[in-house]
Amino acid sequence: MADSGNVNGKAGINTRLAHSGNNPSDYFGFVNPPVVHASTVLFPNAKTMETRAQKYTYGTRGTPTTDALCDAINELEGSAGTILVPSGLAAVTVPFLAYLSAGDHALIVDSVYFPTRHFCDTMLKRLGVTVEYYDPMIGAAIESLIRPNTRLVHTEAPGSNTFEMQDIRAIADAAHRHGCIVTMDNTWATPVYFKPLDHGVDVSIHAATKYPSGHSDVLFGTVSANAEHWPALTEAMVTLGVCVSPDDSYQILRGLRTMGIRLERHQESALTLAKWLETRDEVARVLHPALPSFPGHELWKRDFTGASGIFSFVLKAESPDRFRAKAHAFLDALRLFGLGYSWGGFESLALHVGLGDRKVALAPTEGPVLRLQIGLEDVPDIRRDIEAGLAAANAV
Ligand SMILES: *Cc1c(COP(=O)(O)O)cnc(C)c1O
Repeated sequence: MADSGNVNGKAGINTRLAHSGNNPSDYFGFVNPPVVHASTVLFPNAKTMETRAQKYTYGTRGTPTTDALCDAINELEGSAGTILVPSGLAAVTVPFLAYLSAGDHALIVDSVYFPTRHFCDTMLKRLGVTVEYYDPMIGAAIESLIRPNTRLVHTEAPGSNTFEMQDIRAIADAAHRHGCIVTMDNTWATPVYFKPLDHGVDVSIHAATKYPSGHSDVLFGTVSANAEHWPALTEAMVTLGVCVSPDDSYQILRGLRTMGIRLERHQESALTLAKWLETRDEVARVLHPALPSFPGHELWKRDFTGASGIFSFVLKAESPDRFRAKAHAFLDALRLFGLGYSWGGFESLALHVGLGDRKVALAPTEGPVLRLQIGLEDVPDIRRDIEAGLAAANAV
């Protein structure tokens, strides 16, 4: 790694995505790392076995395949260490289990990914952790919510489904003044468009299921920590016995090679369509941080270097009892868009967002919220499909 590491240090993002991770000369010159299937690793003698004095000791603790991916992610995140977990949700729950104990208080952003909220309200609660949801736009005022037993502040920006931005630096600085750990679910931006650790975050979380995978066929999560918080994270992973398959790890590293150029296309198509939707009479608002009309736009412009391909819009409806019928008419008229969860893949997807869980960052009142993942298809085709959806919603 040493030579490619040096080259990569000053290189642009696509160069780093293409070359970080494994060093081909470590494995006979093959460009890609081997996919090592392993539980048992043999030791040459009893003393080495007793002292575990060799690089690999057991499959759950890493292989050349997982190391290649961890090295690549560490380079992208600027982190001291990365753990690999079997889903994006596990990438949230494992660090929460690593850092929180009974009696602790955790502050969670209200626009959080819903399954994260579910974990907090059920398992964390059962384990004796108190959870409080805060306004994504709170900024430095988060300090007023910090209690003597507050241990962790979880951020996610933009927020799930409604894309609220957060002042990550202000929140991290306030949290650190009180000794709290700051975690961030950075799945939307990927480390290509936002590097959490450069903005004061301690632990960066990604659902690699999304853009790193890029093909809607792998479930995967990564958690990357700074030097201070790395030991507790890696200890939690070993203690819990959470690990990933070599095939999935290989696919995620493979996905990273093209992620930069895929993101450019997702970004450009999504922004084109978001701007076009803003001009449509049927649309009350478009929720996309890169639009100047969006309330969190200035924060996005200050901190992020790009936008990915998922956003939402609010379809106008006369009254709340019409929301569902309008949303369903829109979705059922789509032919190119699939109706399905997740995003970050090559194909366009749409869904009607449910926001009934929100406590502070409440649902828009003008109409139903529809989320669009803009895939790699041609924009005129995607636009035609959305037009058909809008026409069907108009007819309701
Ligand atoms: C999808 C998603 C996750 C969970 O990823 P899975 O691999 O589907 O479990 C976590 N956080 C965010 C923001 C997501 O969008």
